[in-house]
Amino acid sequence: MNYRNLLFDVDDTLLDFKAAEDQALKQLFAETGVDWSQDLKERYQAVNHQLWQEFEQGQLSRDEVTGGRFGRFFATLDREVDSQAMDRQYRYYLAQGSQLLENSKEIVADLAKKADLYVVTNGVSETQYSRLRAAGLLPYFKDIFVSEDTGYQKPMREYFDFVFKRIPNFEKQQTLIIGDSLTSDIKGGQTSGIDTVWLNPHAQPLLPMIRPTYEIRHLQELYQILS
Ligand SMILES: [Mg+2]
Repeated sequence: MNYRNLLFDVDDTLLDFKAAEDQALKQLFAETGVDWSQDLKERYQAVNHQLWQEFEQGQLSRDEVTGGRFGRFFATLDREVDSQAMDRQYRYYLAQGSQLLENSKEIVADLAKKADLYVVTNGVSETQYSRLRAAGLLPYFKDIFVSEDTGYQKPMREYFDFVFKRIPNFEKQQTLIIGDSLTSDIKGGQTSGIDTVWLNPHAQPLLPMIRPTYEIRHLQELYQILS
């Protein structure tokens, strides 16, 4: 293998975050007496996305994002809710969402025999562990680095320094990050000096200043990069 350490993002790289989110939101909205619709979901996602962007830029803390998102969303419906309680309930449902993307489990299981695999994910530790465990992915990884446990998050350089320090005999040249997000996975890899694989299933356009080393449409194409 030309790379010894493979760092995998989780959401929309290994696990189908949309499926988990859909299921959790549906349950949550039903409980709140709000009729589920595609339009409503998209409006929630816009609010949530905006908050996570502010988090990536260091303007909000993780707790401000997760604790505030439902309050902010329901305010757009002229409803007042207990935002934090609602988020706890949402995360409880979300933690049960472990739908795998395509054949990601087979690929991970196979690559674990040939390289050292690590998880690099932004999110809530308990939720991510629970989902990885439920999906049967946990045994294939040497270590799991959830941003909540590191005090930093992708794409911050400090996050990657934290990870690199904990990988035995770490060498940048032998390390590859694989993820679907240009602004967290690819930008983070680029900033910290490792090669990057952008999983881009919907052929999204590149963003300025972010340049992945490789770009693939399916995880399976990793095999063309690893040799
Ligand atoms: Mg992702």
